[in-house]
Amino acid sequence: MKATVDKQKCTVCGVCSGACPMGAISLRENEVEVSDDCSLCGICVDTCEFGAISIPEVGHGPSEDLGSYSGVWVYAEWREGKVHAVSHELLSAGRILADKRGVELGAVLLGSGLNEQMAQDLISYGAEVVYMVDRPELAHFTDERYSKCIVELVKRKRPEILLAGATSMGRSFIPRVAAGLQTGLTADCTELDIAEEGHLLQTRPAFGGNIMATIICPNRRPQMATVRPKVMKPVRLEGRKGRVEKVELPSECFKARVEVLEVIAEQDQTAKLTEADVIVSGGRGLRNGENFKLIEGLAEMLNGAVGASRGAVEEGWMAPSHQVGQTGRTVAPTLYMAVGISGAVQHLVGMQGSQVIVAVNKDPSAPIFDVATYGVVADLFEFIPEFVKRLKRERQE
Ligand SMILES: Cc1cc2nc3c(=O)[nH]c(=O)nc-3n(C[C@H](O)[C@H](O)[C@H](O)COP(=O)(O)OP(=O)(O)OC[C@H]3O[C@@H](n4cnc5c(N)ncnc54)[C@H](O)[C@@H]3O)c2cc1C
Repeated sequence: MKATVDKQKCTVCGVCSGACPMGAISLRENEVEVSDDCSLCGICVDTCEFGAISIPEVGHGPSEDLGSYSGVWVYAEWREGKVHAVSHELLSAGRILADKRGVELGAVLLGSGLNEQMAQDLISYGAEVVYMVDRPELAHFTDERYSKCIVELVKRKRPEILLAGATSMGRSFIPRVAAGLQTGLTADCTELDIAEEGHLLQTRPAFGGNIMATIICPNRRPQMATVRPKVMKPVRLEGRKGRVEKVELPSECFKARVEVLEVIAEQDQTAKLTEADVIVSGGRGLRNGENFKLIEGLAEMLNGAVGASRGAVEEGWMAPSHQVGQTGRTVAPTLYMAVGISGAVQHLVGMQGSQVIVAVNKDPSAPIFDVATYGVVADLFEFIPEFVKRLKRERQE
């Protein structure tokens, strides 16, 4: 959708073109052209003294069928036969939301060779019903098939809320689901709640992490949100009871233009940040990529993964898969060591849920010390080798 120009009224004066902050309006010989960069901000409408520009009406108030939607759903992601931890976290969060709404909590499991054990696992984290679609075409994840299946399921069962992990899989296909259902989606939420009038309150960092924005989707259903791994706490209760519904979907849902021929597992174990119990991260304070060997050595000794600030990634010292923070991974290990990292807010939002944070920085006023459990004010090139030496000595004793 974009602004439209009434050619009868337009004099091609060019005022709108100069006023457009998106640079979306250009002047042709006898007409004005609006490109797809138009953000529908409406500034051009106000500047046109001939009333030649209009903005298409967006939204028509609440859909009439809002009341026919009920229930909270969690998309249950799994890999190699194991349900991803983020699905457990979301089910536990979803349980609270479903109880507040007085509705059922469902989990959606798509794949091939699914088993009752996986469904039972989801039930023990709070699901009352597990919708299972088991088809050979779903053996490997593809955006097209997975999104078509979820869209079809939602159209049939009409849940009011649909949650998914902000994992590479969730980020890849959940926006397609939202587009297919013509509803809103809030990505990377850090908090979810129910408002008095029943809407889902979706809170996430905005404007570079400087404010927290709470977003609602009042006019469309389902209300859709993704949440990063390790943001919500999983709560498992043995003995919970639930039912499993095996769902058959039309063959149309399994058609795709892309076929996955082979899945090659990532070799670099250190990139498995989100699952690591210990993470040693390095920043620009390391001065060059070669010096990251210090971080790698320490991480190996502690049986941990290597993380990096965006500063270090931008310098090309570490691959982006190691980046911790707002535009990297969110982590919450038992131990997080930040070495030569200043502690910008965009880094902190990705690691401040860690149990113990150790910061090594030569600047005592570095903001990383505000969140550190233990702060070491030192030159990292002196401290880290000494620390490694002592660890080795203690382990030998
Ligand atoms: C939209 C947006 C998204 C962003 N997303 C992320 C993100 O996901 N993750 C992220 O990390 N950043 C992110 N950033 C960037 C962030 O704002 C910072 O620029 C970045 O985190 C800085 O990296 P740094 O701490 O390694 O570098 P610097 O800020 O340069 O800090 C280096 C630190 O090393 C210390 N130091 C230097 N030498 C030594 C030494 N010899 N011994 C000990 N300490 C030493 C210094 O005192 C300093 O505190 C984002 C920014 C924006 C605008």
